[in-house]
Amino acid sequence: MVHDSHYYDGAWQASTVSDAIDVISSATEQVVGRVPRGTAEDVDRAVKAARRGFEAWSQVSVEERAQWLEKLAAAMKTRVPQVAEAISHEVGTALSYSTKVQVEFPVMMIGLNGRFIRSAKLEDELGHSLVIKEPIGVVGCITPWNYPLHQVVCKMAPALAAGCTVVLKPAELAPLSAFMLAEAAHEVSLPAGVLNIVSGPGRVVGEAIVGHPDVDMVSFTGSLAAGRRVGALAGDGIKKVCLELGGKSAFIVLDDAPFEKAVAAGVNNCMQNSGQTCSAWTRMLVPRARHDEVAELAAAQLAKLTLGDPFDPATRLGPLASAAQRDTVLDYIETGKREGATLVAGGGRPAHLGTGYFVEPTIFADVAPGMTIAREEIFGPVLSIVPCDTEADAVRIANDSIYGLAGGVWAGTKERAMEVARRMRTGQVDINGGRFNILAPFGGYKKSGIGREIGPLALEEFFQLKAIQQ
Ligand code: NAD
Repeated sequence: MVHDSHYYDGAWQASTVSDAIDVISSATEQVVGRVPRGTAEDVDRAVKAARRGFEAWSQVSVEERAQWLEKLAAAMKTRVPQVAEAISHEVGTALSYSTKVQVEFPVMMIGLNGRFIRSAKLEDELGHSLVIKEPIGVVGCITPWNYPLHQVVCKMAPALAAGCTVVLKPAELAPLSAFMLAEAAHEVSLPAGVLNIVSGPGRVVGEAIVGHPDVDMVSFTGSLAAGRRVGALAGDGIKKVCLELGGKSAFIVLDDAPFEKAVAAGVNNCMQNSGQTCSAWTRMLVPRARHDEVAELAAAQLAKLTLGDPFDPATRLGPLASAAQRDTVLDYIETGKREGATLVAGGGRPAHLGTGYFVEPTIFADVAPGMTIAREEIFGPVLSIVPCDTEADAVRIANDSIYGLAGGVWAGTKERAMEVARRMRTGQVDINGGRFNILAPFGGYKKSGIGREIGPLALEEFFQLKAIQQ
């Protein structure tokens, strides 16, 4: 999985310098791939290709664009095992989960965007005006490592469907699936300049994309700190920005909920992808009178989630993506202990897994809302159980966060859960076990971001409105 070229203008292009970034397996700590460490010059060439590509692509009919997306999805479908294996190395995701969630799901989403654009209403009459939705132009896409292909597809597929062209910078830790996407685009002969990829560090390649005068819009997913910087640079260039940032989502379990079912669902949600999920329910808010029972149920559920080699079929939770990520998570666990939370399960590095960036899945109980582990995004397998006095108290604590990305409520009735969900200041809420919906918009309130991804409404981000008076 060694790549020495970027992909732009419909061809593999040598990097302007020969520096490379090693891709490390989170399970073996060995190098499993290499991608070029791009420069601002590489970005400039890719953006120029995207600008030329836009002239033609924006004029391609909706039906043809939909068909291109379907062809790209079909070419990716033949690559599912290789992509899943690469992501399991990069991120540590257990292979079975990786295959379904990290690869099959986003591959389906590529094709689905063809369907979305076919049924989109692109013109409307308002009085004597014709209002037209036009593609915004060249879109710079910058993505994180936790669901690497999914994050890319969430931006690329609606952008291309809307008639935009894309310059993508994948995450340094997990760039390989983006290169496989470029191979698929090349195989189906996607027109030159439509999908362009330059790999490299955020500070260099990312900032060159955001600051480039020929990039019309930036769609960024990543941390709050980097999102702030991207937002400021984009603001300077007066360009539209979409930011998908962090979270500290709350799951409210109300006193009439079926506790066994609800707590198991909450633990599974928090721990998926070893907690490296922006929307993870990392705070479980429970009635104070039932707190100890919840802690026991949560520990029992956690014991069912086997930690181990991502390529072992028995594994549910793999290692974290990097040594730095492991150390950050271990620091938070120590902070939790120091600040007086009760350690219920986990709490350190697993003794039996010496190689790989493993952290034991960890549960803290008696967590006070002001504790660091209840406030900051840890981005690892750490659940905080927070006792609450009343339903109103739970809603207040849930909303007392700088973030507002996702959340959950479980109550005795749908009506009660719905009423609480409406009071939560967050972009998504699942009630009483409601499942993920590929048609539903996803994105954040507050410092979780600006804009929405996923489903037909994601297309709206990539349009410019023109009004013609007649
Ligand atoms: P990160 O911010 O470190 O990096 C994300 C991407 O931004 C990478 O490609 C990186 O190279 C690039 N980047 C970094 N600094 C930059 C800069 N100054 N200018 C331009 N680009 C820059 O985040 P990460 O560690 O890769 O990902 C984890 C974070 O992503 C978590 O906070 C998580 O919650 C968030 N996330 C959010 C969503 C969402 O949909 N809201 C989804 C997944 C992950």
